[in-house]
Amino acid sequence: MGGLSGKPNFSAVLVDRRRLAPGVLEFRLRRPDGFTFFPGQFLRFTVDGVQRDYTMVSRPEAQTIDFCIAVADGGRFSTAIRQARIGSRFQASGPLGHFIYQGAANPAVFVATGTGIAPFVAFCRSGVERALLLHGVHHADGLIYRNVLAPAVQGYFACIGRPATIPEDGIEVYAGRVTDYLKSELAPGTYDFYLCGRRDMIKDATAVIDGRFGDSRLFIENYD
Ligand SMILES: Cc1cc2nc3c(=O)[nH]c(=O)nc-3n(C[C@H](O)[C@H](O)[C@H](O)COP(=O)(O)OP(=O)(O)OC[C@H]3O[C@@H](n4cnc5c(N)ncnc54)[C@H](O)[C@@H]3O)c2cc1C
Repeated sequence: MGGLSGKPNFSAVLVDRRRLAPGVLEFRLRRPDGFTFFPGQFLRFTVDGVQRDYTMVSRPEAQTIDFCIAVADGGRFSTAIRQARIGSRFQASGPLGHFIYQGAANPAVFVATGTGIAPFVAFCRSGVERALLLHGVHHADGLIYRNVLAPAVQGYFACIGRPATIPEDGIEVYAGRVTDYLKSELAPGTYDFYLCGRRDMIKDATAVIDGRFGDSRLFIENYD
């Protein structure tokens, strides 16, 4: 697998970009010949001297390498990707990272907030199915890829902070944060927890897991 330095080791052409949800874009690069990765890995992009990491949501053998990106106000990379023309080349290094599905030794619990869902999309598209998945969002329209995820996993729970915006397609909604679900809904047991998102969720979820599910294994991808 690819280089571990931050130095770009290939370039790829932007072939498509679309809006997935308010403030979230999907962008697609043509997959260079011979490029492959393990589901859950990311690429490190370099734009105007700035480096940012993004996790693939596509299957390794797909024709394009796809990403979902939260467009932060004034964010340097997210502004660049929003403005880039189809056909532009992006410099990247990778694949990088070790946030990879470890097998079914214990029941798996995938916990994501926002675009932290990305590695789990790649897992599910690559055949991982024996998992419970919690996706924390502020509004139902942030439940990106739910049509891929809900049919793939054993249990899909949308954890919506403001459940006034409940989606209409019959998915299970939990009115609260992912950490509330772990605290009060998940049965005691030994699990493999996979957490992906921003620092605050990871810190809070880790505290709950340490307190309630002490014998479990914990795998973390921190977006900050
Ligand atoms: C291993 C790894 C994988 C990652 N994979 C993804 C991915 O698949 N998709 C993805 O969207 N991000 C991912 N990230 C985060 C990503 O690398 C950037 O940090 C993020 O997109 C912001 O970059 P920017 O240049 O647009 O904004 P910056 O210029 O870095 O930040 C601008 C402002 O926006 C805030 N901000 C940054 N990110 C967010 C956010 N998500 N929501 C709200 N505010 C934010 C910052 O705190 C800052 O105040 C990943 C990070 C890591 C470390």
